[in-house]
Amino acid sequence: MKHRKAHLPQKVCQSCKRLFSWRKKWQKDWEQVKYCSKRCRNERHSLIEGNDA
Ligand SMILES: [Zn+2]
Repeated sequence: MKHRKAHLPQKVCQSCKRLFSWRKKWQKDWEQVKYCSKRCRNERHSLIEGNDA
């Protein structure tokens, strides 16, 4: 192990299943972050709730 820089935590997006890294904007609520982006979060919502056609 040579250079061990600050390793950012990662999570898998619950919507697109991609790995995403910690962002500064999430520093307060990283524990609760489940999606890589607002868009994914919204997609998830529409999948669950947007079924009333
Ligand atoms: Zn995503």
